[in-house]
Amino acid sequence: MSITEEAPELTDTPEMAAFRQRVREFLADHAASRPTPEAQQDRLTEASPAAEVISRAKAYQAALYDAGLAGITWPKEYGGQGLTNEYQRVFNEEMAGHEVPNGVYTIGLGMVIPTLLEFGTEDQKRRYVAKALRGEEIWSQLFSEPGAGSDVASLQSKAERDGDEWVLNGQKVWTTGAQHSDFGAVIARTNPDNPKHRGITMFIVDFKAAGVDVRPLRQMNGGSGFNEVFFSDVRVPADAVIGSVDDGWRCAIAMLMNERVAIGSGGGGGRGGGGIDALTKAARERGLNLDPVTRQAIVDVYIRQRIIGFIGQRTRAALKAGRAPGPEGSIGKLAGALLARRSSDLGMALAGPAGQAWLPGDDRSGRWAQAVLSAPASRIAGGTDEVQRNIIGERVLGLPKEPQVDRDQPFRELRVGTQTEPVR
Ligand SMILES: Cc1cc2nc3c(=O)[nH]c(=O)nc-3n(C[C@H](O)[C@H](O)[C@H](O)COP(=O)(O)OP(=O)(O)OC[C@H]3O[C@@H](n4cnc5c(N)ncnc54)[C@H](O)[C@@H]3O)c2cc1C
Repeated sequence: MSITEEAPELTDTPEMAAFRQRVREFLADHAASRPTPEAQQDRLTEASPAAEVISRAKAYQAALYDAGLAGITWPKEYGGQGLTNEYQRVFNEEMAGHEVPNGVYTIGLGMVIPTLLEFGTEDQKRRYVAKALRGEEIWSQLFSEPGAGSDVASLQSKAERDGDEWVLNGQKVWTTGAQHSDFGAVIARTNPDNPKHRGITMFIVDFKAAGVDVRPLRQMNGGSGFNEVFFSDVRVPADAVIGSVDDGWRCAIAMLMNERVAIGSGGGGGRGGGGIDALTKAARERGLNLDPVTRQAIVDVYIRQRIIGFIGQRTRAALKAGRAPGPEGSIGKLAGALLARRSSDLGMALAGPAGQAWLPGDDRSGRWAQAVLSAPASRIAGGTDEVQRNIIGERVLGLPKEPQVDRDQPFRELRVGTQTEPVR
């Protein structure tokens, strides 16, 4: 047993034990129990998913749905299983030791669809939820713009009403997975006379609509995980509004909370630990496994990994008690970003020169370089480390809020983003 493994669950009720067995059988048939090179490739931030990665993801998600294991706690009428969080916990525990090829669904199933379930109309839920759950349709989240990231309420993309439709114009950036997506949840300004947080609306945008232009960006790790997306006179039907017109900020906040939970809560309550096993192996190979400084550094990574698992447990317990995701999502997200940096830096140090110039076939050393080049993304995506610290400072520690001088001023009077003159 490795240091990260735990004793099997002995406290299951008979129903839960039967469910656990079903999950085990499904994972044995459809998932790898160790991170495979292919599974590494499936992570959107690490490499551009090729067509076969998408089809592998679609096959996995369809099988999960058909086995009655997708959307465990989601309402039955929209394709979910309508089960309790206990079932979700058991599923997460079993899945923690596996690599599943479902990275392309993180945004849709982790962020957008939960928001649609909370704010969408009955027709929207019936049209989109089951198809997303079965993996037939992939979703993106389009918030960030060149001039609006941390302060995303400064966004300048706009939608203007024209009869039964809205006309959408503007540019988004950093849009993860847009090149593979069918739909996007887009926030755009619909009322520049209101203060910046109160004139935004969230829309469902069909990426096949005329005027949507998706351009992948190249990252320093070699992948193309995210994109620029341009909207030129895109016509969006009036019934594609999520929530209420001009009240999209509420939906956006809910989606950002879901995002931090999806990124930060971890799946397995502290289990897993391929990272630790890889670090221990690298230390042994370099003859450093008895070196006190190296041992200390590995244990530090292990402790952080376990703490993140416990933060995830706390988050899930809060959700189970019916509380909306709160600042614990920010704590988990920040802790995960710090861990990614520590473990990738340590792996690189253990790999030595091979971490920077590896021999053909030495994939392991190459992966440390990949990890170092990918770690900064986790410090930015879903809100930067500094922004998470602000949230924790204000909402956990009770520190005074940042001054917000433009909060009550009409958006059209502000100098924000690339808007150097008031909007006419
Ligand atoms: C891998 C990845 C995937 C992403 N995917 C998506 C996606 O799918 N959809 C989407 O909409 N966006 C996505 N993003 C964008 C992400 O949400 C933004 O990059 C992020 O919010 C930061 O915005 P910015 O890049 O404009 O930086 P800025 O907001 O310009 O920040 C620049 C610097 O200033 C600091 N800063 C800003 N404000 C404050 C403050 N108030 N206090 C202290 N420091 C501050 C920041 O911490 C940062 O260091 C993704 C980003 C990454 C890295």
